[in-house]
Amino acid sequence: MPLRLYNTLTRTKEEFRPLDSNNVRMYVCGPTVWDYAHIGNARPVIVFDLLFRLLRQLYGETRVTYVRNITDVDDKINAKAREEGVSIRDLTERTVQQFHADIAALGVLPPTVEPRATEHIAEMIAIIERLIAAGHAYAADGHVLFDVPSMKDYGQLSRRSLDEMMAGARVDVAPYKRGDMDFVLWKPSDAETPGWDSPWGRGRPGWHIECSAMSWKHLGEIFDIHGGGIDLVFPHHENEIAQTRCAFGHDVMANVWMHNGFLQVEGQKMSKSLGNFVTINELLKDWPGDVLRFNMLRTHYRQPIDWTFQSLQETRRILLSFQKHFVPDLDPTYGDEEPVEVLAALSDDLNTPAAIAALHEMVSAITKLERAWDPEQHRIRSRFSNALRFLGFERLDKFHHRGMGNLDEADKTKIEEIEALITARLDARKAKNWAESDRIRDELASMGIAIKDNKDGTTGWEVKR
Ligand code: AMP
Ligand code: ZN
Repeated sequence: MPLRLYNTLTRTKEEFRPLDSNNVRMYVCGPTVWDYAHIGNARPVIVFDLLFRLLRQLYGETRVTYVRNITDVDDKINAKAREEGVSIRDLTERTVQQFHADIAALGVLPPTVEPRATEHIAEMIAIIERLIAAGHAYAADGHVLFDVPSMKDYGQLSRRSLDEMMAGARVDVAPYKRGDMDFVLWKPSDAETPGWDSPWGRGRPGWHIECSAMSWKHLGEIFDIHGGGIDLVFPHHENEIAQTRCAFGHDVMANVWMHNGFLQVEGQKMSKSLGNFVTINELLKDWPGDVLRFNMLRTHYRQPIDWTFQSLQETRRILLSFQKHFVPDLDPTYGDEEPVEVLAALSDDLNTPAAIAALHEMVSAITKLERAWDPEQHRIRSRFSNALRFLGFERLDKFHHRGMGNLDEADKTKIEEIEALITARLDARKAKNWAESDRIRDELASMGIAIKDNKDGTTGWEVKR
């Protein structure tokens, strides 16, 4: 079964052919560690975790190198450390640990290598020196800039016009720049800002150079897959390509460029000022990690997702219905069936909606075979359970609401009731029927349920103590 992946570089779905099938190499841009990761940041982490699992299945567990970096040098980090009065190290260490705990709860495997930008300053300097020597970069006023017009085919990934690129890059006008599009490879640091000695004085790297340095160090000059969110196509990935190709003199940096679509919350772009900024950490207080992961996979990775309370409820209902047929520990009576339908769906550009449709079909086939001892039913349940395990659901046993402890059947019915009321209240609020929305809130309060609201909707609920 060939693996087909959509390549942003060619705008087509192509058959995947690794450079070396004994070492399939993938790089994905990881988080900037200055604060809790939000649910949008979880999307590339989950999507490329699934691709990692699929590549390991197809090429062998030890034959895939997956690099997902940590950006631990950034002006947002400096500002936050100053604001909190903590050292940059303490802030980044704490944030990395929070990130690891959050994504482990989402069933994400550790990548093969998780390099940190601050540990690759020497590689960054080496690439910048090569670029200067090759006439693709220049030093000016303590800065080093990439000379965009020196690269004849700059812009192949984003395919934007010059005007669009200027707008997208939010180009700074600076006296030391030769061309408007030229971007920073290295910049000077003052005494209060972190900095490293370099041939151009004490300073720190620009944003794009770190990924060129870390991918080179761990995957080589050319590798198979580079991934990240769609927002990174321009300028970040375009500039990574420019740096790496011009430093090493190749036509490509990575053969396949993959981008996940954007995630919105309750129909709006997530932002701190709108108050709909949802961290993974907060969500995990209300929802099991399996629900968050499955909710993400219900949408194809290239489509935008609207992350809503209602979709989380539906997802939990689906998983509860799957739980009945899931065989947690592989029992010899069930055999060990390869999840062929799900693997076929994923091999078609990670088609998770098709994979989930196949799970639903298996459930209806199981339900049709009434006799529990039917060997065919055992086979389907084995395939079904292996499919869920493959998708990252190891046990599928924690769907109770966090506030309520372990649930019996009566509690489950109660949850359905509570959540139906919350949905009705959300609808009332959408229709600006405030009287009805208040009435439902009071009804829930009389049941001992407190709703957690933010500006745009309900994010969860809990039992009042
Ligand atoms: P950042 O920490 O902002 O550099 O982002 C880390 C990763 O999360 C990148 O791959 C981004 O493209 C991705 N990302 C950030 N926000 C969203 C979002 N709302 N939806 C999907 N992906 C996102
Ligand atoms: Zn990157």
